[in-house]
Amino acid sequence: MDRVDGRAPIILLVEDDDGIARPLVAALEGSGYTVTRVSSGQQALASAAGVDAVVLDLGLPDLDGVEVCRRLRRRAPQARVLMLTARTTEADVVVGLDAGADDYVTKPFRLAELLARLRALLRRGNETAPPERSVLVAQDVRVDPAARRAWRANEELELTPKEFEVLRLLVEHAGRVVSREQLLRDVWETTWGGSSKTVDMHLSWLRKKLGDSASSPRYITTIRGIGFRFEDDGEDEPRPSTPVA
Ligand code: CA
Repeated sequence: MDRVDGRAPIILLVEDDDGIARPLVAALEGSGYTVTRVSSGQQALASAAGVDAVVLDLGLPDLDGVEVCRRLRRRAPQARVLMLTARTTEADVVVGLDAGADDYVTKPFRLAELLARLRALLRRGNETAPPERSVLVAQDVRVDPAARRAWRANEELELTPKEFEVLRLLVEHAGRVVSREQLLRDVWETTWGGSSKTVDMHLSWLRKKLGDSASSPRYITTIRGIGFRFEDDGEDEPRPSTPVA
C-alpha cells in the first residue's frame, strides 16, 4: 500500500450487500487502508469529502450508481472511483467510465484483483500533475488541455471526459495516425478485451459533435485496421499553385 501524504489512504466503500461488503472491508483494512463503509448512494455522497478513493457498487437501493458517480466527481474531485459492477455489457461499462469512474471490476471478482486495481488508481492519483501544456490546434479545432476545454470554429464543444481525452490525443498528433491501442492505453488506461467497440462508439459521438462524417471525413479519418488520424490543414506545407488558365 502506498501512503498518501504520509498517512494511510482513506477508502469509501459503497456497497449495500453485506456478503460482499464484509470480506471487502476486512481485506481493505488488512491491507492498511482506512475504510468507511456505507450502503446507499445518499450516504456515499454525504461521506465523500476527503476520501482518496471510492469503491462504488453500481446497484444501489436508492440512487443509480452511475448517477452517484457523476455527483461524486463534482463533490469529491480528488477521489479516484473504482466501480463495482454486475453489469457486463460494454455499453454499461462505457456509461460508467464516462460518468467519471477511473476503472471498474466486474462481479464476481477476486479480492486480490480489486486490491491491485485500487493500488494502481491511488498511485495514479499520487503522481504530480504534468506541466501545463499550451493550446493544441488543428484546422479550426482548438483544445486547451489545462482548462479541459475544446472549440470548433470558436464554438465550444460539449464533450464528455473521455471524448475530450480522445480529441486531445488526436489533435496532439494531428496529421499522424493514432492507433486504437494508443487510445485505449492513454484514454482508458487499460487494454481490456473487446475494447475496440468502445473506441468506435466514442469516435462516432465525437464525430457527431464535430459535425464530421466517417464516410467523407473533414477531421477524423479512420485508418482501417490501425486507428485514426486527425487531419491537419497542412498550412505549413506549400499549397499547389493554382494553374493559370
Ligand atoms: Ca448492490
